[in-house]
Amino acid sequence: MLTGIHFLLTYSCNFECDHCFVYSRPRAEGTFTLEQIRRVLDESVNMGTVEWVYFEGGEPFLFYPLMVEGLRIAGDSGFKTGVVSNAYWALSDEDAELWLQPFCGLQVSDVSVSDDSFHYPDEKPTPAKRAVAAAKRLGLPVGSICIEEPTVEMGADEQQEKGAPVIGGGAKFRGRAVEKLVEGLPRRRWEELTECPYEDLRNPGRVHVDPYGHVHLCQGLSMGNMWETPLSELVSNYDADSHPICGPLLRGGPALLAREYHVEHDDEYVDECHFCYLFRLALIDRFPQFLAPRQIYGLE
Ligand code: SF4
Repeated sequence: MLTGIHFLLTYSCNFECDHCFVYSRPRAEGTFTLEQIRRVLDESVNMGTVEWVYFEGGEPFLFYPLMVEGLRIAGDSGFKTGVVSNAYWALSDEDAELWLQPFCGLQVSDVSVSDDSFHYPDEKPTPAKRAVAAAKRLGLPVGSICIEEPTVEMGADEQQEKGAPVIGGGAKFRGRAVEKLVEGLPRRRWEELTECPYEDLRNPGRVHVDPYGHVHLCQGLSMGNMWETPLSELVSNYDADSHPICGPLLRGGPALLAREYHVEHDDEYVDECHFCYLFRLALIDRFPQFLAPRQIYGLE
């Protein structure tokens, strides 16, 4: 049952992080209009199951008035709301409160702030810490997201017995992380990668929607286009087994995807997502409706 709609409000971001799985950067194109936001929220009401609406990106605070109006409409429509930001705007304690103050009146239920060395390698205290402290002073529910450089962790007995290295740090090997972060990490045979470990592709609890209309089950893996088919219809007609990418992934992970589509690939990958993402990239021209947008795959 779909309970969460996450707006990728914009693909643009003031940062260009190595771990970014949507390939955001300052000059990235693609930002929702207000009318498009209204359309998605109307459809979310129609679905009758959606409880939460998030605004994220990219960096949603780059389009501050649009984000605030989206939060207002979503709140007025009866949804709990949240935002995810890198807090670049928290230049001082006073400024941090200035940017967050409107959220109090909007009854925003979750402020999630990225606070890690990808975003702030040198600054102490980080703008993110300032933002978290300001949110607490204002009585806003707040939390931090911390993703660090991948490390090989030893001592996870169960995993070690299976022979699979445990990679810590929390980065997901999709998007720019595949280009920037996989070097030197241990790899596994492709035949062992037989499930999707992170997303519930059969019964997604939340989807990410982007300004081009793509409804993401995982970054760059789309249910379909909501500008062509209304979102509520897309969701109610979604059949994971007949989806050309999700079907094989559910039946046998990236390994089965590779067996079914016979595209040349490497023998070893860091993990399931690394294989899945690169294999999807190889299929992108075959399934443009479901593997999109191209910029999430680092393509123009
Ligand atoms: S990249 Fe593929 S394997 Fe990883 S979570 Fe997404 S759909 Fe699943």
